[in-house]
Amino acid sequence: MNFDLTPEQDQLRDAVRALGRRYGHSYFVAKAKSGEHTTELWSEAGRLGYLGVNIPTEYGGGGGGITELALVCEELAAAGCPLLLLVVSPAIAATVINKHGTDEQRKRHLPGLADGTQKIVFAITEPEAGSNFHRLGTVARRDGDDWLLSGRKCYISGVDEAQYVLVVARVAVGDGQGGSGDASPQKLKPALFIVPTDAPGLTRSKLDMEILSPENQFLLYLDDVRLPADALVGESLDAGLPALFAGLNPERITVAAMGAGTGRYAIERASEYTATRKVWGGRSIGSHQGVAHPLAHAAVQVELARLMIHKAATLYDAGRDLEAGISGNMAKYAAGEAAALAVDTAVQALGGAGMTTEYGVATLLGAVRAGRIAPVSREMILNFVAQHVLGQDKSY
Ligand SMILES: Cc1cc2nc3c(=O)[nH]c(=O)nc-3n(C[C@H](O)[C@H](O)[C@H](O)COP(=O)(O)OP(=O)(O)OC[C@H]3O[C@@H](n4cnc5c(N)ncnc54)[C@H](O)[C@@H]3O)c2cc1C
Repeated sequence: MNFDLTPEQDQLRDAVRALGRRYGHSYFVAKAKSGEHTTELWSEAGRLGYLGVNIPTEYGGGGGGITELALVCEELAAAGCPLLLLVVSPAIAATVINKHGTDEQRKRHLPGLADGTQKIVFAITEPEAGSNFHRLGTVARRDGDDWLLSGRKCYISGVDEAQYVLVVARVAVGDGQGGSGDASPQKLKPALFIVPTDAPGLTRSKLDMEILSPENQFLLYLDDVRLPADALVGESLDAGLPALFAGLNPERITVAAMGAGTGRYAIERASEYTATRKVWGGRSIGSHQGVAHPLAHAAVQVELARLMIHKAATLYDAGRDLEAGISGNMAKYAAGEAAALAVDTAVQALGGAGMTTEYGVATLLGAVRAGRIAPVSREMILNFVAQHVLGQDKSY
């Protein structure tokens, strides 16, 4: 058992931490409040190679794994810059295209994902299906060599700043061609499509979310969006299901890392404050256990989550996907809970200052609350653990 990072991973952690601190939470908040994106930070991280750490070197990436990408997510979040699009573009889209895309798709997309000049966001959630992706209603039909996509997606992050959106659709099968046959739910199989965000027939409307974030969520409407044959991820429809599953572990692990980093950030802000704030004579408020113990408790929860993230990433990078699935889900659950606890505890420890923009912790309340819902809710993780670890019957 080894809890040490390699020297290269250590260097990466230090370098990303330094970059994140140079921008800091006030940069993140200012961008969110002015409705702008964190373009400068994203571009610099891309130029320095941090966005492509998990992409093979032949496509301009760092040749590392999800362990390295999780470090990037955690350290930027620990500096107060939790960038959600790290989870969708380099973690989900780059993994899916690298593992299941065609050679042509790898060449077209991975170099840009690696240096940050291309962003690909991810659209699976639908208003009617919610957590139950078996009910997906977005359908892809063949029209000659082309595909026509129709349906609706919701809460899709970053569509306004991405060139492409990876859309999960169902394909009608049963005609031997895949695409124009029976469209009843039982006969459909998933397929992923790389859709330009400016494709005719694709429209979006921004959702008003109570999350202070430079990244926005959208409703997407696909109205017979026409796509060439090579928009389908992979050589054939058989790539659909494995491609969809390929994104899940990287998504869970990196979003957990972002949560753990956010938790660290909040506890650090609060600890600095409580160690120096004095309202009862010469003693700091942190000397009171009523203030210090909740912070210490939150720190324990964050550290436990980090251990599980490390385990999940190590298993994933070793190709042990099934075990990584269990650890990744547990890591996501643990980090989601720990981040929410840490931010809430930090706000309380700072008193009134905790609710100000200046001290930069209440600014994260919405984001960490959302982290218990998205990209997979705590309940769906508990369902997964009950079924796959505890051997319980599926309840839904
Ligand atoms: C900030 C944010 C960003 C997002 N970004 C994206 C994105 O980029 N792309 C994308 O595709 N989606 C995105 N989502 C959507 C997100 O993945 C979904 O919100 C999430 O999967 C839950 O789906 P739902 O909202 O439809 O909830 P529902 O499925 O309607 O569930 C509502 C509640 O019921 C619970 N529940 C449902 N079924 C069960 C069950 N069987 N057992 C126990 N409890 C259950 C859920 O846990 C939840 O608490 C984002 C969401 C948010 C908030």
